[in-house]
Amino acid sequence: MKVKFLDLKKNIEPIKKEIVEATHNIIENTSFIMGENVINFEKNFAKYNNSKYCLGVGNGTDALEIAIKSLDLPKDSEIITQANTFVATCLGVLNNNYKLRLVDCFEDNFMMDYNKLEEKINSKTKVIIVVHLYGHSADMDKIMEISKKYNLFVIEDCAQAHGCLFNNKKVGTFGDIGCFSFYPGKNLGAFGDAGGIITSNDKLYNKMKLIRNIGSKKKYHHEILGRNSRMDTIQAAVLDVKLKYLEDNNIKRRKIANRYFDLLKDVREIELPKINDYCIPVYHLFVIKTDKRDQLQKYLKEKGVDTIIHYPISISELECMKNEIVETDLNFSIKNSKRILSLPMYPELEEKEIEYVCDNIRDFFYNKLL
Ligand SMILES: *Cc1c(COP(=O)(O)O)cnc(C)c1O
Repeated sequence: MKVKFLDLKKNIEPIKKEIVEATHNIIENTSFIMGENVINFEKNFAKYNNSKYCLGVGNGTDALEIAIKSLDLPKDSEIITQANTFVATCLGVLNNNYKLRLVDCFEDNFMMDYNKLEEKINSKTKVIIVVHLYGHSADMDKIMEISKKYNLFVIEDCAQAHGCLFNNKKVGTFGDIGCFSFYPGKNLGAFGDAGGIITSNDKLYNKMKLIRNIGSKKKYHHEILGRNSRMDTIQAAVLDVKLKYLEDNNIKRRKIANRYFDLLKDVREIELPKINDYCIPVYHLFVIKTDKRDQLQKYLKEKGVDTIIHYPISISELECMKNEIVETDLNFSIKNSKRILSLPMYPELEEKEIEYVCDNIRDFFYNKLL
C-alpha cells in the first residue's frame, strides 16, 4: 500500500465546483488586486477567530514581518521566540533588523518553555513570538502573565494552528497580533501563497494595513515606507470557500490522531505527542519521537509510507543562523530535532491507511527485530 503524507487532491475534489464558480467571477470582472473577495474573506476569518480585524497578506512569512514592523520598536530591540520553529518565525525578526533571542521548548509537547523565558528578558526585550507548533497551543496564561510583567508585545505564530483552542478561545487572539499562513498544505490552505494577520488593536491594524499596501491608503499618496504584500483576490475566493470546511476538517484530523494514539499506545519505543488539557489541538502534524527515527523513516518508506521531519535542523544549527544566535541552552529543541517524525496526517486519510502505518511501525520495532 502507498500512504501519502498529504493528499491535497482529495481535499479539493469535493469542493472544486464551488471554488471554480467563486474564482470565475474574478476572471470576468478582473478584480485581481484587493477585490471584494479579499474584504469578504478578511471579515469571515476575523469573525471565525473572534477577532476585530483580519488583513489578507502575501504569505505567512510576510504576515510575521509586517506584524513586527508595525510595532515601531527601537533599533536595538530584542525579540524572543522558540528554537524549534519553522525558520520564517525568525526571519520576521532578522529581516526587520532586530536581535533574535531563542528559548528552548518543552521536550514533551514542543511548546515554548515559559519557565526559561524570564532569564532571556532584559531592558531591550520588546516582543515574545509564541508558536502554536504542529496545531497545539502554547500555555497562553503563562506567556501572557510574563509579557504583562515585563510590558512586552506578544505575537502568536498560528501558521500551523487555524482553529486551535486554548481554554476554549482561539489562538491568535491572546496577544497583540496573530499571524497565519495559508500555504496550500496548512490546515486552511490557498491555491498558492497567502497569509493572514488578525488583531483587535485599531492602531496596529491601521499601521499593518498601510504597510502591506506600499504605505498608502489613497493611490499614489504614500505615507510611510511600506511594502507590497496583499492577498490575491483569487486566493481570497478559494480561502473563503475552504474556510467553511475548516472546522469539519479539524474534527477529522482529531479523529485520525485518536486512532494513532489508540493503535500506537503500547509501542514502548515511541513517544506520542503530549496534548495538554487546556488545548483542543488541530493536528497540523502528528509528531512522534523515537531514538530509531532515521531507521524507522527508512523502513516506512520501503513499505510505501511517506513521513517528513519537521524540522530536521533546529534553528540554532541552521547555516543562515551562524552569526545570529548567542544561546547555548537549547537542549530539547536540538535533541527533539534528531528524534521527531511526522506521520501522514490530512483529513481524508482513511482508516485502512492509518492501520497500515501503525502495523508497519509495530513491525519495525517488534517482528523485524526478532
Ligand atoms: C508555514 C509557516 C510559516 C510561514 O508561512 P509561509 O506562508 O510559508 O510564508 C511561519 N511559521 C510557521 C510556524 C509555519 O509553519
